[in-house]
Amino acid sequence: MRIVSLVIMLFLSLLSSNAAFAQWHQKSFDVMGTLAHVEFWLPDTAESSTADNLIAAVEQEMQRIDQTMSPYIATSELSIINRDAATKPVKISPELFDLLTDAQDIAKLTNGMFDITYASVGYQYDYRKHQKPDQAAINNALKAINYQAVMLDKSTSSVRFAHTDVKIDLGGIAKGHAVKNCIAILKGAGIEHALISAGGDTTLLGDRIGRPWFVGIKHPRADDKTAVQLPLSNESISTSGDYERYFIEDGVRYHHIINPKTGDSARNVVSVSIIGKNPTYVDALSTAIFVMGLQKGMALINELPEYEAIIIDNQQTLHVSTGLQQD
Ligand code: ADP
Ligand code: MG
Repeated sequence: MRIVSLVIMLFLSLLSSNAAFAQWHQKSFDVMGTLAHVEFWLPDTAESSTADNLIAAVEQEMQRIDQTMSPYIATSELSIINRDAATKPVKISPELFDLLTDAQDIAKLTNGMFDITYASVGYQYDYRKHQKPDQAAINNALKAINYQAVMLDKSTSSVRFAHTDVKIDLGGIAKGHAVKNCIAILKGAGIEHALISAGGDTTLLGDRIGRPWFVGIKHPRADDKTAVQLPLSNESISTSGDYERYFIEDGVRYHHIINPKTGDSARNVVSVSIIGKNPTYVDALSTAIFVMGLQKGMALINELPEYEAIIIDNQQTLHVSTGLQQD
C-alpha cells in the first residue's frame, strides 16, 4: 500500500492555489450511455470563442462515434455489420476497420478474455430490467462466441462473420477510442493541458500546469467515495467495475463484464484500472483483466512494460502491478 501514502502526499499539493484558474474551461455532458467530461487550459492569447468551439467539437465527436458504434441505433455501422456480416462481407470505414483490428489484437493478447463476440450472450442481459439468459440460452449463445469468427480483410476494408449467429459489441473499447479522438482534436488545436473522460475512461494531455492531474478510482461498494486518487500526467486510465451496471438476484451480482467462456458475469475481482499511453488499449485491457481475475490478469500486466494495473479483489484488497510498487 505504499502507493497510498504517495497519493496522500501529492493530494496535499492540490490545495495550493492556481493563478491561471480563469483560463480553465470545462463541461460535462451525457453521451454513449454515460457521463463525459472535457477540461482544458487555454492561453490568454486565444480568441474568446475558441473554448466554446473546442467543447462543441469534442461533444460532436463523441456523438458521431455513438452514431457509428451504438448497437441501439439501427443505422449505425455496427448494427449493419451485425445484420449483414454473417451472409456477406460488409465494407466498413477505415476508422471502424482499425478499431476492429485493435479489438482482435487485444483478444489474441488476452487469450479471448476480451472478445467483442461476447455480444451473443451480452445482448440477452438487461440490467435495468433485471433480466438474464437461462443456462440453455447461454449454452446456445456460447456457440457463436469466438473472436476468430470475425474475419477482417484489409484489401477491401471489409468484415465478415465465419458463422451465422455471430454478433459483435464495442462497449468495452469504443469509449477509449472516443477519448483518444477527442484528445487528438484538442492537441490539433494547440492545447497542451487537458483531461477528457467518458465513463471510466480518462486521458490526460500534459499535466495540470506544474502539478499532476488527479484521477480517482471509485470505491467499488460506496458510490460517493473514492478508493484511491492517482497523480497522472500524459497517461490514460480506464476503470472497469462490477458496480456500473448490475442487479443482484439470490445474493449473486449480475453485471456487465462477461466471461466469454461461460457467458456469466466475471466475479473474481470488483474493480480493475489499467494505466498506459493508448486510450483504446487501456479501455479494452481493463475489461479483459477484469475477466482474467487477479492472478492471471496481474501476471499479464506485469509482462507488458507499457501498462500498469490497480486491481481491487472481491475481499476489497488493493493490488498494484510491479511498476507501481517502486518508491
Ligand atoms: P464501462 O462500459 O462501464 O466503462 P468497461 O470498459 O469494463 O466498462 O466495459 C464493459 C463493457 O464491455 C460492457 O458493457 C460490454 O459492452 C463490453 N464487454 C463485456 N464483457 C466483455 C468481454 N469479455 N469482451 C469484450 N467486451 C465486453
Ligand atoms: Mg473497458
